[in-house]
Amino acid sequence: MINKQLGITIKSSREMDLMRQAGQVVAKTKLAVKDAVQPGINTKDLDDIAENEIRKLGAIPSFKGYKAGGNIPFPSTICASLNEEIVHGIPGGRIIKEGDIISIDVGAIVEGYHGDSAFTMGVGAISDEAKNLIEATSNALTKGIAEVKSGIRVGDISYAIQSYSERLGYSVVKQYVGHGIGQALHEEPQIPNYGKRGLGPVLMAGMVIAIEPMLNIGRSDTKLLDDGWTVSTADGSLSAHFEETVAITPFGSEILTQVKEV
Ligand code: MG
Ligand code: MG
Repeated sequence: MINKQLGITIKSSREMDLMRQAGQVVAKTKLAVKDAVQPGINTKDLDDIAENEIRKLGAIPSFKGYKAGGNIPFPSTICASLNEEIVHGIPGGRIIKEGDIISIDVGAIVEGYHGDSAFTMGVGAISDEAKNLIEATSNALTKGIAEVKSGIRVGDISYAIQSYSERLGYSVVKQYVGHGIGQALHEEPQIPNYGKRGLGPVLMAGMVIAIEPMLNIGRSDTKLLDDGWTVSTADGSLSAHFEETVAITPFGSEILTQVKEV
């Protein structure tokens, strides 16, 4: 069902079930990639692992062939963004090494419905400043998710993420934002990582959103690299990214992209 006025989709229980299935494919794929991250592997190898896992689970990669704004179609299954790269890094021959931090973004489609999730991790031993950045970004996502229930406004999530992150001295990326998700990878409403409580669209049961804070150690400015996709910090400072797909339910919220205990 589509609320045309807002461009926001409310999922039926059948649609919500497919969103759960897509979320579980993404959750399992994240674990497969996480297990493979080690010094000496390249990001194309990680991409192959993710694509094999998604297809083994009977799903389709969301990002492969994805077009945004007249850009070249995204060529890969995952986004792999290293160190000062924020999001949308294209996997390739670049070898990851001890001390790097890597952000992996995974999307999968089950019967036309998308799941979308990302995490950042260290490769081997990393600096305290990198460790703290990763922890803060993960916590910022938790703060955002903690706000989610029917009746709140998008600005309540945005404010929770921004205020927590900036209090710790990090900047939040403003140019790229979270989003509604369903039959399209990116739906309304946008979920910015900055904003004011009480402002923005109201969340209702049946909506599904991807919340995805991106935190930089330095300034929030971004730059687009020559490959047309990779987004990096303008000042070269380290950046981290976490994302979960979250459903608004009649009872609160449900994270769809973490492995469910059975
Ligand atoms: Mg994503
Ligand atoms: Mg997303």
